Amino acid sequence: MLLNTNKEDEYLYQGKRKRLVEQLKEKGITSQAVLNSILKIPRHLFFDQSTERPALLDHAYSDKALKIGAGQTISHPFTVAFQTEKLNIVRGEKVLEIGTGCGYQTAVLLEMGAKVYSIERQKELFDKTKVFLPLLGYKGAKLVYGDGYKGMPQFAPFDKIIVTAAAPYIPEELLAQLVIGGILVIPLGEGEEQVMNVIVKKSATEYNKQAFGKFKFVPMLQNKSQ
Ligand code: SAH
Repeated sequence: MLLNTNKEDEYLYQGKRKRLVEQLKEKGITSQAVLNSILKIPRHLFFDQSTERPALLDHAYSDKALKIGAGQTISHPFTVAFQTEKLNIVRGEKVLEIGTGCGYQTAVLLEMGAKVYSIERQKELFDKTKVFLPLLGYKGAKLVYGDGYKGMPQFAPFDKIIVTAAAPYIPEELLAQLVIGGILVIPLGEGEEQVMNVIVKKSATEYNKQAFGKFKFVPMLQNKSQ
C-alpha cells in the first residue's frame, strides 16, 4: 500500500476487519478468497472523508452502507461479499463492473485476481476513484466514464459481469457481452429493495436465472451525468 497510514491505526483497523470477516462468515459467506480480500482492503479509506469522518471508527467496518460523494453510497460489506461470491471468480478472468463508485468492489475484484473493467456514470466519482485506487496500490483496473447500460463492447466478451446499482431490467447489451458459460450478477427492481439475480449464459440464446435475497442499492440511471 502506498498511502501513508498510521501504524497504530492499521492494527486497530485490522482487528476491526477480522471481526467483520467473522460476521460475514456467520451470515453465510464461505469463499475464502472473498473473505481474504475483505480482510486485506482498508475500507475506511474509501468513503467520503468530508461527510463520514466523525463516524469513521465506528462505521467503517460495521456492515453498513456509507456515503462516498455525489449522493452515492458504498455497498454493505455483506452485499459486496455476496455478489462477489456469486461471480465465482477464477484468477485471470475478465470481469466487468457497472458502478465503480469509490472503487471498493473494484479492489475486491482485483484482490481476487480478476482483470477488471469498471464503468461509472458520475464524473466526480470517476475522477476521484481513478486517482485514488492507484494510490492504494490498485493499478490494474480499466476505469471508464460512461453509461453502464451499454457495457464495454470494445473490451467484450467478459467472463463475469457485476452490476452494483439497482437495475429496472436486465440490459440486453450486458448479456450480449458475456461469454458462453459467463455469469451476470445483478440486483433487479425499482422499489426500496431489489432481488439479487444470478444469470448464467448457457448458449447464445439460453440463460439460467436464479433469484436470491433482498438487497438495497442506489438506482442504475440512464446515460452519463456530470
Ligand atoms: N461498486 C461501488 C458501488 C457504488 S454505488 C462501490 O464499491 O463503491 C453504485 C454506483 O453505480 C454509483 O456510483 C452510481 O453513480 C453508479 N451508477 C448508477 N447507474 C450507472 C450507470 N448506468 N452506469 C455506470 N454507473 C452507474
